[in-house]
Amino acid sequence: MARLIFLGPPGAGKGTQSKVLADSHLIPHISTGEILREAVTGQTPLGMKAQRYMERGELVPDQLVVDLIQERLDKPDTQSGWILDGFPRNVIQAQILDFILSKLSHDYDRVINLDVPDETLVARLLSRGRKDDNEEVIRRRLEVYRDQTAPLISYYESREKLVTVDGNQSMEAVSSALNNLA
Ligand code: AMP
Repeated sequence: MARLIFLGPPGAGKGTQSKVLADSHLIPHISTGEILREAVTGQTPLGMKAQRYMERGELVPDQLVVDLIQERLDKPDTQSGWILDGFPRNVIQAQILDFILSKLSHDYDRVINLDVPDETLVARLLSRGRKDDNEEVIRRRLEVYRDQTAPLISYYESREKLVTVDGNQSMEAVSSALNNLA
């Protein structure tokens, strides 16, 4: 049983690494970005509301992702554990997550902060070729990360849950560092 939160800037490898770890632990990998992208592709009501924020590299409104995560954490497969990838993204979301988990009588074990220098991030994001990966949007996403998401590092540090992993190494080296933790 593991309940982990992945934190880190866009391009740090959160998505790839958290998915590998979730698969090896047979627990759900819950990515708000992935759920939102599917909603946009399907042009569901959620997707239609989220699209313009995502295209600009902004965070979608808290209420939308909070509803989405609450619904996902209520599913029975989360009893075995989970990995959250991309949520929470700001302090308000982190506080709401604490509240949701206390109602479910769950807690997270660790928050893994994947640390990667800025130069590497931009290069990685540009080579990824996702729709929201053009240079202007990338710059905005990095700014949003710094302003809104990076404060979560001290939020979780003060709760003594944070572990920082050097994400500026080969995929295999990061995976093995993560396996040693989980
Ligand atoms: P990601 O795949 O995690 O990089 O997320 C892609 C985009 O989805 C982000 O740039 C945001 O627009 C949106 N998004 C994903 N997770 C969240 C969240 N927790 N809060 C607000 N917006 C989010």
